[in-house]
Amino acid sequence: MGGMARRRAPRSAPASSRTAPAACPCGSPAPYPEHCGKLHAGGVAARAEDLMRARYSAFVVGDEAYLRRSWHPDTCPPVIGLDGGTRWEGLEIEASERGSAFHQDGTVTFRARYREGGAPGALHERSRFTRVGGEWVYVDGDFLD
Ligand SMILES: [Zn+2]
Repeated sequence: MGGMARRRAPRSAPASSRTAPAACPCGSPAPYPEHCGKLHAGGVAARAEDLMRARYSAFVVGDEAYLRRSWHPDTCPPVIGLDGGTRWEGLEIEASERGSAFHQDGTVTFRARYREGGAPGALHERSRFTRVGGEWVYVDGDFLD
């Protein structure tokens, strides 16, 4: 893992101060502030799947700072480019392998539904996660469809 110095993004709320949605965007019945919102506010993901869910929710609420700090420094793009034209409409976790408190790596297979310019689409991906400084980060993924 290259030993790169870890830079922490400041713990900040999403740039837009829109009202937080009532149910968590990731599909959990728990309200956003008690679920992915906790990770966005600086909480630590216990499992790779929790990080995956929080990253999906970060796309929904537009929390670029969270996407950046939950991304492996070697693979995080210089510009994330949250596209205002994409509306994320739902997440389904299909499989979660390894990625527990006892693992150093894991994969999460998911399907994320979106709408772009009125047309529905879905992102079907198997994402890889590892730990940097003990905390889960997203490395990269393979598109399955
Ligand atoms: Zn959530």
